[in-house]
Amino acid sequence: MGEMEEERTSQAGQLFENFVQATTCKGTLQAFSVLCRQLELNPSDHRGFYSSLKAAITYWKAKGLWGKLDKRASHKEYSKGKACVDTRCLIIGGGPCGFRTAIELALLGAKVVVIEKRDTFSRNNVLHLWPYTIQDLRDLGAKKFYGKFCAGSIDHISIRQLQLMLLKIALIVGVEVHVNVEFAKLLEPPEDQGTDGPGWRVAVRPADHPISDYEFDVIIGADGRRSTLDGFKRKEFRGKLAIAITANFVNRNTTAEAKVEEISGVAFIFNQKFFLELKEETGVVKRSSCMTETKSVFFKNLILNDYIETERLLASDNVYQEALLSYAREAADFGTNYQLPSLDYAINHYGQPDVAMFDFTCMYASENAALVREKSGHQLLVALVGDSLLEPFWPMGTGCARGFLAAFDTAWMIKGWAQGKGPLDLLSERESIYRLLPQTTAENISKNFEQYTIDPATRYPNLNSTCVRPHQVRHLYINGEQD
Ligand code: FAD
Repeated sequence: MGEMEEERTSQAGQLFENFVQATTCKGTLQAFSVLCRQLELNPSDHRGFYSSLKAAITYWKAKGLWGKLDKRASHKEYSKGKACVDTRCLIIGGGPCGFRTAIELALLGAKVVVIEKRDTFSRNNVLHLWPYTIQDLRDLGAKKFYGKFCAGSIDHISIRQLQLMLLKIALIVGVEVHVNVEFAKLLEPPEDQGTDGPGWRVAVRPADHPISDYEFDVIIGADGRRSTLDGFKRKEFRGKLAIAITANFVNRNTTAEAKVEEISGVAFIFNQKFFLELKEETGVVKRSSCMTETKSVFFKNLILNDYIETERLLASDNVYQEALLSYAREAADFGTNYQLPSLDYAINHYGQPDVAMFDFTCMYASENAALVREKSGHQLLVALVGDSLLEPFWPMGTGCARGFLAAFDTAWMIKGWAQGKGPLDLLSERESIYRLLPQTTAENISKNFEQYTIDPATRYPNLNSTCVRPHQVRHLYINGEQD
């Protein structure tokens, strides 16, 4: 290698390293844009982008990552990135499940756009990962982006870190990401122009953003539990009152912190001993993470009025913030055997100590996973993933695990769509697979993680993809002309 060439390789390597090591959403997007500009790479060439980037970044540190991504991209289901070449997909929401879906669709060769209404990733709360999600993320190069990934004895990662790593992978595989863009509503194709006129588009905030000119074949709602996409009925599961307290403290990387044993989120229903000891020790029942208890004992010190509606019950003006802070601190002290001399609260994006109480007494699930709309000869496949599809039960770590399964199932459906499968066959297959999702646990899915692909048969041992029949999903094929 000549001196000039060596210099170029090392400069390109440094630009890539800045991108890989960026610690914020904005920083990542900025480092990515500098990288593309300096190396004259065109990020809107979604099909050729990954190969051009790989050709430009030849330094040794990137090789491991290319090896992993190449291996993933070689799954036969992607048909060498040609399975969905003419499919234009919009994903609403840059949470873990939105990005995970985006990566799969990009590997299928689709044009993928993600819109995210915020430009910061600030959720410090940790997600418990199932063994397959760890393997999945490792295979996407998680350790290259976040060296500490699952390094401790507990398999978890903060939502923020997970979003950041998936954003980077999505950009590498050619996904177009726009932050500070909020989905407002779906726009039907104009009636008078038929198939020659524009197809399905979206209204966003800010209204003049270039995204409002894009046309899409597929729209995916990954905007979290308060999904904004029309057409999906929600059903509610109501359980016994279940409240979680989450608290995040600053990690100063001290010896004491390194020594302290990691324990997972603790739930009263799963770990009553912890709470009984905590109660004995401190005289009151406190909760350090996710837990349920009789309301009266717990709330008397924390809550002003014992309202029936949990929203009012947990509203900030009904909670003694100081008491909540000291409760959570004491629980953390207890949980760490009083081995941490200084427990300082991390600050959340409102500038407040990062302690929060959540209610998951009621959990929502969408009745259906997908639907097809047709108007003026233009068809649109609409689907939900992640919390928008099925709200998680945090103590079991189902959010991310079931969220990723749904991401793969959705990608499988979109592959079928691109191959010309009829709407009713497609939707009935999707609904059949969706029926399995709420029952999945870390134990009952296939253990052969190495074999996992977007093909549901590789993941669900008792798959029956025809249990819902096409005539049962007619209502999910919404033809605007017939309206
Ligand atoms: P989310 O992570 O909720 O992402 C949705 C994204 O969509 C967000 O980035 C949001 O800004 C964006 N968005 C919303 N509306 C729009 C719109 N109109 N246009 C564009 N973008 C939009 N799970 C646990 O297991 N343990 C926890 O401790 C825990 N803590 C949580 C704390 C909070 C505050 C929240 C919201 C969730 C928490 N969860 C927790 C749930 C967990 O985060 C999710 O299961 C997981 O992140 C997967 O979710 P997702 O990608 O489907 O949605």
